[in-house]
Amino acid sequence: MSEKICTKCMAVFDGQKWFYDEGKHSRLTRMRRAEETLCPGHERIEKRRIDGVVSLKGVFLKDHLDEAMNLIENIADKQVHRNVAARVYNVHQNGEGITVETTETSLAERIGKEFEKAFSGDLTIQWLRDSEFVRVSWQRD
Ligand SMILES: [Zn+2]
Repeated sequence: MSEKICTKCMAVFDGQKWFYDEGKHSRLTRMRRAEETLCPGHERIEKRRIDGVVSLKGVFLKDHLDEAMNLIENIADKQVHRNVAARVYNVHQNGEGITVETTETSLAERIGKEFEKAFSGDLTIQWLRDSEFVRVSWQRD
């Protein structure tokens, strides 16, 4: 019995790798054969492992908050199918804008790039600690 399922999302482990599959997850849940555990993404959330921080700022953002929040959600949704470990840890809104903490560098990078693609503006990506941490800033006034 090498199959596993995440108890917090639709991720499954087939004995070799984790991937996101709602159909397989519900089949395995019904059969009660798979070990119930946390996927790499939820394990990182549990351990508060944050590998990326995205700061989104500017006047334009304040006028398009709903769009921005939807875009973050869509990007996170797509990215988890590519990499189960890539999760949004926290999204925080304040007077300055939106801050997103991610469990994986690629997701933070992707959010910055998708914001630039969707809304133009200025994007800065800063890799730290031998590329194990990324700080992404996007701004449009
Ligand atoms: Zn999970």
